[in-house]
Amino acid sequence: MGSSAASHDHSLWSATAREAALVTEPFSGESRVDLAVIGGGITGCSTALNAAEAGASVILLEAKTIGWGASGRNGGQVIPGLKYDPSEMSAKYGAAAGRKLTEAVGNAADVVFDRIAKHRIDCDPKRSGWVQAAHAAPALARVQQRAQDWMNVGAPVELLDGSDIERLIGTRAYLGGWIDKRAGTLQPLSFVRGLARAAREAGVAVHENSAVESLEQDGEGWRLQTARGTVRARSVVLGTDAYSTPLVADLPNAMLLVQSAQLATEPLSPNLQAHILPDGRCCSETRRLAFYFRLSPDGRLMFGGRGAVGDAENPVFTEALIAAMRRIFPEAADAPVAFRWSGQIGLTLDGLPHIHEAAPNLHIGMGYNGRGVAMATVMGGWLAAKALRGEASPLPATPLAPIRWHRLRRPALALGVGWAWARDRMGFAG
Ligand SMILES: Cc1cc2nc3c(=O)[nH]c(=O)nc-3n(C[C@H](O)[C@H](O)[C@H](O)COP(=O)(O)OP(=O)(O)OC[C@H]3O[C@@H](n4cnc5c(N)ncnc54)[C@H](O)[C@@H]3O)c2cc1C
Repeated sequence: MGSSAASHDHSLWSATAREAALVTEPFSGESRVDLAVIGGGITGCSTALNAAEAGASVILLEAKTIGWGASGRNGGQVIPGLKYDPSEMSAKYGAAAGRKLTEAVGNAADVVFDRIAKHRIDCDPKRSGWVQAAHAAPALARVQQRAQDWMNVGAPVELLDGSDIERLIGTRAYLGGWIDKRAGTLQPLSFVRGLARAAREAGVAVHENSAVESLEQDGEGWRLQTARGTVRARSVVLGTDAYSTPLVADLPNAMLLVQSAQLATEPLSPNLQAHILPDGRCCSETRRLAFYFRLSPDGRLMFGGRGAVGDAENPVFTEALIAAMRRIFPEAADAPVAFRWSGQIGLTLDGLPHIHEAAPNLHIGMGYNGRGVAMATVMGGWLAAKALRGEASPLPATPLAPIRWHRLRRPALALGVGWAWARDRMGFAG
């Protein structure tokens, strides 16, 4: 059985990244900065970049290498919005705050593509939209409502019927759905490396292989200890999400972790590339055990879905994922699977990302629920503004709290994933 953590090194993205890995030294000695950022994923790199652009002195410490966590191994689908649609955000936060949040999360893909353009990040950006495809009639009604909700605030989205879906993504497996034209795709490892490069060019001291081992209050600021050095910072931001350690006591128990597993085939024939998910279009579907898919920049069919709970990958789930891919795209069934890997996603009980001030001048952005490429990029701007200027973010900050019965929920989640896969194999998943 493979290890999810170790699978980073044999992902398609590691094999094809065009943005070079940064060459950095492990942090050693002593440093005093305005802001210390822990974690070299999208959240950390975006926070560091935004803070340096605002004139702060910044250090970024990453335990492994830039993009080693979820940011360098995800599906590369850049999807704006949250689990809540505009009317739900207004109902939850009030009209004015809901509108502000809707605008901020609705523009999340713009923030990503603007960064790519500004820093010339070599990450194969394409902006041909994200399709959410409905597998059953109740799901279709629900996604049509979502699309209407976004149309009401002027977003460029459209309703799709089954034949539109077939034309746009090359499968007859769905009844209909909607397309959000603000969305797109990119090569995620290149994207996060590009953010880190831009941060370094803006003056951030970036150090890989520099795990923060302890974090202690130091007057009004914080003292961070790595194996070889000490950083004193006025403020700290943690961008460790699903790879969090107990540096902050309640953090690992504030999310439930589940693997997301990915496959990539050998490149499809030019005919199939023109028919299946052409132009960089991406898709996820409505099943509880939702699959998501796109073509890679070099024309491979990429297919993802829920994996096991814990670090060990489950080969039974991987085989089931391959079977689901071949069922949904029968014309590509002969394409051999060339790459398999997985990573952890952090789930919150309300399905929303969270921003916390866990203690004075200690900020955390986390809990993207499998939708962090756009949101973590935006979160970086919010975290930098909060840490440097005390600005409130459009997503109201919440207290950091462990999920009740966390220990019991983990086996329940594992059982739930196993059951969902069993139902899928029997043809019942919904
Ligand atoms: C397989 C998979 C597919 C996905 N597909 C999509 C998708 O298509 N679209 C989408 O929007 N989202 C997707 N996601 C989710 C998205 O990748 C994440 O939400 C996002 O990358 C989180 O970024 P992050 O920077 O917060 O965390 P991460 O990228 O996980 O980075 C956390 C980093 O913190 C470091 N760290 C931890 N502890 C310490 C410490 N003590 N000291 C220093 N460093 C530390 C870790 O080494 C790690 O590199 C997917 C996730 C997975 C796993």
